[in-house]
Amino acid sequence: MNGNKEGTYFGLSTPLGRSATATIRISGYKSKGVLNKITAGKLKNPKHKNTSVFDIYNKNNDLIDNVLITFFEAPNSYTGEDLVEIHTHGNPVIIDMVYDALFELGLRLAEPGEFTRTAYLNDKIDLIQAESILSLINSNTKEGVGLSLNNISGSLSKKIKKMRSNIISTLGFVEYELDISETDNQRKTITQAHKNIKNLLLETSELISTAKYARIKTIGAQIVIYGKPNAGKSTLFNSLLNYERSIVTDIKGTTRDTIEEISTIGSHSVVFIDTAGIRTTENPIEKLGVKRTQEKISTADLSLHMITSAPKKIKLKPKNNITVLNKIDLLEKNELNKVRNNKNLVCVSAKNKTGIRQLLKRINKELDLKTQSKTTNQITSPRQEQSLKNAQKELQRALECKEDNLEIIAHHLTGAIKAFDVLMGRTSPDDILENVFSNFCVGK
Ligand code: GDP
Repeated sequence: MNGNKEGTYFGLSTPLGRSATATIRISGYKSKGVLNKITAGKLKNPKHKNTSVFDIYNKNNDLIDNVLITFFEAPNSYTGEDLVEIHTHGNPVIIDMVYDALFELGLRLAEPGEFTRTAYLNDKIDLIQAESILSLINSNTKEGVGLSLNNISGSLSKKIKKMRSNIISTLGFVEYELDISETDNQRKTITQAHKNIKNLLLETSELISTAKYARIKTIGAQIVIYGKPNAGKSTLFNSLLNYERSIVTDIKGTTRDTIEEISTIGSHSVVFIDTAGIRTTENPIEKLGVKRTQEKISTADLSLHMITSAPKKIKLKPKNNITVLNKIDLLEKNELNKVRNNKNLVCVSAKNKTGIRQLLKRINKELDLKTQSKTTNQITSPRQEQSLKNAQKELQRALECKEDNLEIIAHHLTGAIKAFDVLMGRTSPDDILENVFSNFCVGK
């Protein structure tokens, strides 16, 4: 994608396939002329937000379909340009014919995310709102939808703007002291600056801490199953999903790559990840599998550590980890009673599907705890998290400055403002924008 491209473009905004209706969007200055042509002169001067039914035709006057057309006049449209929505019958053949007719009229196909990118470039939305539209479309839970809608409404942007203007006012009085003030107010200035920076740091870390649970709410929690070969990881993976997704054998090292599958637990969307068993191996493919397992464990929201014999010592429960004792069907009765009393273990027989309900309950409880948040504003993308971490670093450095270093404080406050500008998309380099919008589909 190469920035603000010229011309009028179009794209299918609904998934390709057979359906009652499908929507094709057109944006750009030729929109009105296109409507006049495809309706054979029946829609010459469309009015803003007007919706009517028309027959549409190609260049040779062949009827394409009977459609519903809505027109939005610039600048009061999604993109800020003249924008048209054509609702055809949902048949790929019809979509193809509309595409051909639009190509014949000199329009081009939109690039991924181009409608939303144009909205951003025309100041209809900021970069955070653009990302929230993507997270709204991709949200797998009701809470994720609510969170994304809240961010689209501008609530998060408002909070971030306020934080940015607090840094600017702090920088203002630091610079006043540096450049203009004739009285020696240095100590007072530093005390006030430190107070403001401390508050800003609190707000910044609070927002950063929301990244993980907002991700769980929108995309879903990553739950990795790990342990030694033959512990029963693939069997558990299948039992949790309730179908035979992974291959189960008693040959060690069968699962060499990670296998991921989406599921739902309570109100949570989850991604279960079956992994290669952890053992020392010389096999290069298995080695890569083990490395991938370790990476997945480090980034997972929750991990299920599978073991097949009860540990001698009862360890404290590690964070983000549930220890699952498998193959309890092979235990003697008195051994079974012993392990069942161990509160740090969840006992299952993955093969016989015993204990799976208790495990699901336990996962649900952990995810409930992880997604509880008192803050209304939550960030939803790794880019937002990274920009805030950059701002946090600058603010931290400004705070650590000694008394006689007002200049250095000013320097780091300027750095923090820059990080906030990147966050809002005020000064985002092209490659960052490219990254944000390439995650959208054509038509969004
Ligand atoms: P992985 O290598 O950890 O993925 O282990 P698998 O799921 O492939 O299982 C290894 C072997 O253990 C297979 O023969 C399974 O049938 C067996 N197995 C898995 N779970 C259980 C269980 O709960 N009880 C018993 N008796 N065998 C199991």
